[in-house]
Amino acid sequence: MNPTHEISAAQLQQLLVAYRQFVEQELFPIDLDVVKGPFKSFLPALKALREKAKSLGLFAPHLARNEGGLGLNLVQFAQISEILGQSPIGHYVFNCNAPDIGNMELLHQFGSEDQKEKWLGPLQRGEIRSCFAMTEPQLPGSNPVHMATTATRDGDEYVIQGHKWFTTAADGAQFTIVMAVTNPDAPSPYQKASMILLPLDTPGYTLVRNISIMGEAGEDYLSHAEVKFEQCRVPVTNLIGLEGQGFALAQERLGPGRIHHCMRWIGICERAFDMLCRRALSRELEVGKALADKQTIQNWIAESRAEIKASRLMVLDTAQKMQEHGAKAVKEDISTIKFFVADVLMKVIDRAIQVHGALGITDDTLLSFWYRHERGARIYDGPDEVHKSALARSILKNYSSK
Ligand SMILES: Cc1cc2nc3c(=O)[nH]c(=O)nc-3n(C[C@H](O)[C@H](O)[C@H](O)COP(=O)(O)OP(=O)(O)OC[C@H]3O[C@@H](n4cnc5c(N)ncnc54)[C@H](O)[C@@H]3O)c2cc1C
Repeated sequence: MNPTHEISAAQLQQLLVAYRQFVEQELFPIDLDVVKGPFKSFLPALKALREKAKSLGLFAPHLARNEGGLGLNLVQFAQISEILGQSPIGHYVFNCNAPDIGNMELLHQFGSEDQKEKWLGPLQRGEIRSCFAMTEPQLPGSNPVHMATTATRDGDEYVIQGHKWFTTAADGAQFTIVMAVTNPDAPSPYQKASMILLPLDTPGYTLVRNISIMGEAGEDYLSHAEVKFEQCRVPVTNLIGLEGQGFALAQERLGPGRIHHCMRWIGICERAFDMLCRRALSRELEVGKALADKQTIQNWIAESRAEIKASRLMVLDTAQKMQEHGAKAVKEDISTIKFFVADVLMKVIDRAIQVHGALGITDDTLLSFWYRHERGARIYDGPDEVHKSALARSILKNYSSK
């Protein structure tokens, strides 16, 4: 976020080494236990790790220096994000996890001074968590202009009424940013909704349940909630940006967000790939004959390496262009990386599971956690089909103008 201090290539390399060491030495030994949960029982240990990250000057790397971060640009942060992605608790420990990082970016750019002081500051310091409530169970999230949640003005307050789900990490969060229709008569469907900050102790707000995902509801940071807003009243000063700007702000939030997700996925790919290679070498089908000697396995190793490398180059190229020209100018590239890297992620995790045989589907390794939790990568922040369609239409437009 708005770097105030550019770091050199050599300094970045030093930082990457420091992050890699921290992740391998502090997080790898505990992350399987943490994801098995209960997550809340690990909060004190995770808090201690956050303090350690702070003391090493590595906490919240995405923030500007004057906000306690490292003042990195998007390309630099992306490379750190890949390392953090290798552990399911990496981004959390360093306070740059979704959805908090997106909310920090939003409040940083569009929040009022009061919102920044009351909510952004504590969020950046890792004292509180937040969530983002946009998707509704009854309407298609992939076309969010169909939205039933309303925020009706009543004097100096908005009265919010609606039903949302997949509000990631709502359990244990202090506030949400809720997307609600404030201007139903606006000429464009993209100008009807607004983003409003709602503290989660507001009367009328209910966390209905943490939704069970493939048999696991999870809790706290590792959960997705169904929530209800019944006549929730918040002051009009809780509006973020202007009325009717909700979709425009959501686009701002999603641009860098997709870079963050893709680099995190590449980190997961690297760890799963490492597990795949180790298992292929150590598993002997008969004395002296490792699984790695089989050509099918060698193909998977070679294909995975090529696909991970292609993903990284593509995402860093998009990040570089976004840094120079803004998110709007790289819409095609963002769509491309979103579906391409999600697909590589699925393939690499699946191959790693297959190489592990029955062990791969147990909860004795991280592979099953990722298989369950990262399947959503092809759905959230725009399903594959929407991105592919957008990319193809954009390409075809150039042909029709020739
Ligand atoms: C792990 C996870 C975390 C999430 N976190 C959040 C969160 O924190 N906050 C939040 O508000 N939401 C969150 N979501 C919700 C997410 O944004 C929606 O699931 C997504 O927008 C898709 O909406 P939907 O589920 O209603 O699917 P639908 O819109 O019903 O779409 C269903 C399917 O239809 C197909 N489809 C849709 N549109 C097209 C098209 N134009 N062309 C062809 N096929 C199409 C796709 O295959 C799609 O998967 C999360 C979802 C997941 C899985």
